[in-house]
Amino acid sequence: AQKEKEDAKIDGAVQIAIGVKKEVDFPTWYTNVLIKADMLDYYSVSGCYILKPWSYSIWEEIQKWFDAEIKELGVQNSYFPMFVSAKVLEREKDHIEGFSAEVAWVTRAGKSELEEHIAIRPTSETVMYPYYAKWIKSHRDLPLKLNQWNSVVRWEFKNPQPFLRTREFLWQEGHTAHLTKPEAEIEVRQILDLYRRVYEELLAVPVVPGIKSEKEKFAGGLYTTTVEGFIPTTGRGIQAGTSHCLGQNFSRPEMFDITVEDPNDPTGQGKIHAWQNSWGLSTRTIGVMVMVHGDNQGLVLPPRVASIQVVIVPCGITVKTTDEQRAEINQACDDLAKSFKKAGIRAKADLRDGYTPGYKFNDWEQKGVPLRLEIGPNDLAKKQTLSVRRDTGAKNPIPLEGLEQAVSTLLQTIQNDMFKRAQDAYYSRLKQVTKWEDLVPTLDAKSLRSSLGVRLRLVKMISRRGVLKRYAEEQADERAPSAGAKSLCIPFDQSMWTPIEPGKTKCPACGKDAKRWTMFGRSY
Ligand code: AMP
Repeated sequence: AQKEKEDAKIDGAVQIAIGVKKEVDFPTWYTNVLIKADMLDYYSVSGCYILKPWSYSIWEEIQKWFDAEIKELGVQNSYFPMFVSAKVLEREKDHIEGFSAEVAWVTRAGKSELEEHIAIRPTSETVMYPYYAKWIKSHRDLPLKLNQWNSVVRWEFKNPQPFLRTREFLWQEGHTAHLTKPEAEIEVRQILDLYRRVYEELLAVPVVPGIKSEKEKFAGGLYTTTVEGFIPTTGRGIQAGTSHCLGQNFSRPEMFDITVEDPNDPTGQGKIHAWQNSWGLSTRTIGVMVMVHGDNQGLVLPPRVASIQVVIVPCGITVKTTDEQRAEINQACDDLAKSFKKAGIRAKADLRDGYTPGYKFNDWEQKGVPLRLEIGPNDLAKKQTLSVRRDTGAKNPIPLEGLEQAVSTLLQTIQNDMFKRAQDAYYSRLKQVTKWEDLVPTLDAKSLRSSLGVRLRLVKMISRRGVLKRYAEEQADERAPSAGAKSLCIPFDQSMWTPIEPGKTKCPACGKDAKRWTMFGRSY
C-alpha cells in the first residue's frame, strides 16, 4: 500500500516532472533536465562536470559519424600530449593573446616548484605544429591531415554552463596542412558542412553557416567559418562549431616554419609555407540539443542519437492478471525488443518489477526516449501495440505484423519533424532590420515571459564596426536590456533575405553602401 501511494505521488507529479517550466526559469529548467535525465553530475571543481552514460552515448554517436566522414577526407587520428611549455605556447603572439586569460598552468610537482611552468592545452596548434615542421620536409609530405579526439582546458570566467561552457571539454580538433590556399579553403568548407550535418541530421538542430567578423575570428587565424545555432527560449545565438583557415600565419619562418620547396618553381629555389586549417566541434553540441528540443516533461532525444530509440512497457496488468498472462506479456515485450535489435533499431523492454507503468512512462519521458510502445493483454489479443511519440505525445496503435518497418519509418518521421519544428522556430525569429531605430526595439521586441521574443535578427550593413560602434555608444550601459549583442556571422547563404541593391541599400548604422547581411544577436 505504501509503495502504491508513493507511485501515485510520482504519477501525480508527471505534470511538473522537471520542477520548473522551460519558459519561466530556463537556467533551472536546463540543469534539472540534465540531472533528471541522468545525463550529468556536478563535480567538486567548479566548471567541470561528469558526463554520465546517457549523455556520453550521444557524444559517441557524433564521434562515430564524424570520424567516418573525416576518414573519407583522408584525415587520420593521432594523439599529442596535453602539456605545452610556456616557450612554445607563447610563440604565436596573436594566438596566445586570444587565449592567455584562460590558460591553466602546472606550476608544481609534489612539493617542488617547477622550474619551467607547463601549460595545459587550450587548443593544440602550438603543441602540434613544431612536429608538423619536423615531419613536413617536402611538398610530397603534403597534405598532412591529423585529428585528435581529446579534451582541452580553458579556464573560463564567464558563468560556466554544463556542455555549453565548461572548463574542461571534450572535442575533436583537426589540424591540416596543404600546399595551396584553394586546397585548404575547400577543406574549411567541407568540414563546416560536416558540422552542419552533425547538428541538422543527427541532432535535428538547425544552424546557419557563415563567416565570423574579424573581431570574432580565431586568434591567430586568417578567417573563421562557423555554424551558428539559436536557442529560441532565450533568443540567444550560440557558436556551434568552427572551421578555421589559419592561412600561413603559423607556418611562417618566424613562427613554426612549416616550409617546403615549391614544386612548380622552375628554378627549384622557391619556397612555400604550408596553408593550414584547424577545426573543432565540442560536447557543446549536446547542450544545444537539450536546450532546443527539451520540454516541460524533460529531455527529448532525436532518434538518430538516442541510445534507446524505443522503449517497450508492459501495461494493463491488474490484480486479476494471472502469473501466466503476466509472463506472456513480458515475453512479448522481450521478443519485440530482440526483433527490433535485429532490424537495427535500438530498443529496450522495461520489465522492471515493482514499478507501475505510469512511473516507467515518466522515467523514459524524462530521459527523452523518442518512442514508447505499450503492450497489454488487450493489445496482444488484437495483435497490436500502442505507440506514443515523445516529441508530440501522439498516440497510435500499430499492428504487430510489420512492426519493425512501421517503427523505423516513424522514427524517421520524428527525426524530420523535430528538425522542421526547430527550423521554423529559428527562421521565424530572424528579422530583417533596415532602420537603425528598429534595431534595439527588434532586439527587445518581446520579453522572455511572452516566450515569443524576437531577439535574434539581421542587420543590413556595410561594416560590422559601424553597427557595433553606434550600438555601443547608445547602449553604454552594460545593464541595458539590449546590451551584449554582437555580430554572430555573415551567412554564406544570403538568399533568405531581400537582395541588397548595390548603391541603394544602405547600412542602417553608418549610411554607407551595404554589401552583405550580417546576423546580429545576443549570444552564449
Ligand atoms: P575554438 O577553438 O575556440 O574555435 O572552439 C571550437 C568550438 O568548441 C567552438 O565552436 C565551440 O562550439 C566549442 N567551445 C569553445 N569553448 C567551449 C567551452 N568552454 N565549452 C564547451 N565548448 C566550447
